Amino acid sequence: MEIKQDSKFKGLIKRIGAVAVVCVFCLAIALTIAFSVPKGQQVSNVMGQFVLPMNNATVVKDYADDRLQDNPTLKRWEIHLAIDLQSNDMNVFSIYDGVVKSIRSNGLEGKVVEIDHGNGFTSVYSSLENDVNVQENGKVNKGQQIGKASNAAGNEKLTGGHLHFMLYKDGKAVDPNIYLDLQNK
Ligand SMILES: [Zn+2]
Repeated sequence: MEIKQDSKFKGLIKRIGAVAVVCVFCLAIALTIAFSVPKGQQVSNVMGQFVLPMNNATVVKDYADDRLQDNPTLKRWEIHLAIDLQSNDMNVFSIYDGVVKSIRSNGLEGKVVEIDHGNGFTSVYSSLENDVNVQENGKVNKGQQIGKASNAAGNEKLTGGHLHFMLYKDGKAVDPNIYLDLQNK
């Protein structure tokens, strides 16, 4: 009787062991997949499909979340979570299909248009001229003109006419250089 119980016990231990091995194996596979997928692939359905917000634009002030940049207008060094673009062509275009989330205007930023592109992406176009071509909650297409760049942003007045462009992913500012081909202009 004792021997029988012992072998039963051993069988149970073996089964638990086998289940544990399978669990560890599955976990290892899951972790390998999770860490081997490049971050960009999560947005591959949108990435590479954004168009530039201006034609023939030059980046006059880049995005940087790890260093302060000079703001001659405000005479101070500050974090610039945006890209400032200048071009002879002041027209500003939506980088992707979307819905206009908000339009606001104030002395510091000028006219600001915010577009929701889905997939967690929102683009923000500020320092626009007061007259814009879009309406709140209206649909916009990729490449559609939304307004014109200007020097309306009081906090970057000395930059002259420009677009202060921001890109957000899941509510957090991200570097537009990662998603838009901005530097080869
Ligand atoms: Zn700026």
